[in-house]
Amino acid sequence: MAYLSIRWFLITLAVLTPVLLSLRLGHDRSFAASFHDGASMLYPDSVDLKEFEDASLRWSAADSPTYIMIVRVATEVEVQRTILYANRKRTPFLAISGGHGQTSTVGKVKNGIGIHLGRMSSMYIDTDGQSVVIQGGVRNGALISYLWAHGKQTMTTGCDCVGYIAPILGGGHGWLQGRYGLAADQLISARLVLANGTAIEVSQVRNPDLFWAIRGAGHNFGIVTSARLKIYDVEPSQKQWAASSFVFTHDKLESLFAMANNILDSPNRPVGMVHYLVFAFNPDVDPNHPIIVVWIYYQAASIPFQYTRPLYALSPVAVESSTTDLAGVNAHLYATDDGVACAKGFSRKLAPVSLQRYDIGSIRKAFDVFAGVPSSFHNSVMFAEGYATNRVEEIDANSTAFPDRAGKLLLSPILTYLPNASLDAIAEDISNRIRDALLEGSSSKLVSYVNYARGDESMEAIYGYEPWRLEKLRRLKKEYDPFGRFNYYAPIS
Ligand SMILES: Cc1cc2nc3c(=O)[nH]c(=O)nc-3n(C[C@H](O)[C@H](O)[C@H](O)COP(=O)(O)OP(=O)(O)OC[C@H]3O[C@@H](n4cnc5c(N)ncnc54)[C@H](O)[C@@H]3O)c2cc1C
Repeated sequence: MAYLSIRWFLITLAVLTPVLLSLRLGHDRSFAASFHDGASMLYPDSVDLKEFEDASLRWSAADSPTYIMIVRVATEVEVQRTILYANRKRTPFLAISGGHGQTSTVGKVKNGIGIHLGRMSSMYIDTDGQSVVIQGGVRNGALISYLWAHGKQTMTTGCDCVGYIAPILGGGHGWLQGRYGLAADQLISARLVLANGTAIEVSQVRNPDLFWAIRGAGHNFGIVTSARLKIYDVEPSQKQWAASSFVFTHDKLESLFAMANNILDSPNRPVGMVHYLVFAFNPDVDPNHPIIVVWIYYQAASIPFQYTRPLYALSPVAVESSTTDLAGVNAHLYATDDGVACAKGFSRKLAPVSLQRYDIGSIRKAFDVFAGVPSSFHNSVMFAEGYATNRVEEIDANSTAFPDRAGKLLLSPILTYLPNASLDAIAEDISNRIRDALLEGSSSKLVSYVNYARGDESMEAIYGYEPWRLEKLRRLKKEYDPFGRFNYYAPIS
């Protein structure tokens, strides 16, 4: 009997907690009144439920945070007020920009406050034409289009729907990194609201240690409300991008990855060339095995024949080629706002491994694990991304917290399935086995790109194995976020 009443007490508590919390926090009129626009607050129990759900929806439904309130901030002051309010109420908070961060630790935000940055999406090019100032909620696709319309470009990433600031915080890989370095390398200065609500500027001259830290470990320190970035003229020879996809059956795997290694080894690696090698299921092409798709992007009117000839020689099942512009490259990857790569609401599990070269035996083992996934996972893909690294490697490795300038390749399964908690553990097991297979032939320890990180990696795997890096990050964490308010994305511990 005592057991039953405790059980009922716990059930009642579980049901009532969100309601009680929303009474305590969500509908706090004096907090809402401090915003210019009453519609800035979204609640799970309000008539605007759809808006609340849309604002909460994430690229991965697995490990999702839950909110009792989402504040759609429009100014830096509103970000400050919301953080101070969350501190007073001892409630966790999470910045929401593109909503694509899928690391498992974001799911530890329970009954938290979402600080939605969608209304902070303006940008302008400075009068000297050398930099753009963007607000904290600007999306990657919007930045590409805005700059392109002004004859400019910078290091932008491969998906329109992803926020631009969050990638910077972890480094930021993309199309033009061979020419300009990482997205983080474009940052000239940023305004940051810290855990205590103070807004500060960071740059090479103002708070330089923090400026170093936010370019690689930046999710740990504050909310970026605006950033000044380097931009560049689009030269006439850079206006076009050639995009080709080649579809192969799996028996070509060894030859394809050997070919990719040859490109990586080439002393004259083109700055504007990117390759993706992708495993996917397409029973029309091969009912028994995943297929391999090779995507090549080249910033010019066409891809030099020396790179396509070996691919044609392997008798692809299908080839599709087009010429486009920088925005069109994302479209080619199905990564515009309405493209399948951006689709929200599925559950996804990644297990990233960064490498300097493909070990072909390991790739085959990873392929075999991928090939054996149950049919509920047949919308999954396994990605190997090879962005040009010319300029990334030239920049002083110690100048930012990004720890892997020697890395040349990003590999990860993207296990994709309809939300179903019973599949989460299976997805994790599969992704573990793929990660193990990929590492087997690598002589180095696990290196995982923080923006793809799963959440179970060691501090060293995501922030670097050189002891000074973690020592510095830990010191800065203690100084700027002593109570761990920014501990929900790859927290420094
Ligand atoms: C389809 C897809 C394509 C991708 N392509 C690339 C790519 O080409 N290159 C690459 O490097 N990465 C890429 N990524 C990884 C991407 O960098 C991360 O998923 C990133 O976290 C997404 O940022 P977001 O703003 O969309 O997500 P969110 O979930 O909104 O943000 C991610 C994290 O950053 C925090 N955050 C967001 N905005 C701010 C801010 N202004 N200040 C402080 N913290 C903030 C959030 O609180 C959260 O912890 C891709 C991811 C996906 C899903």
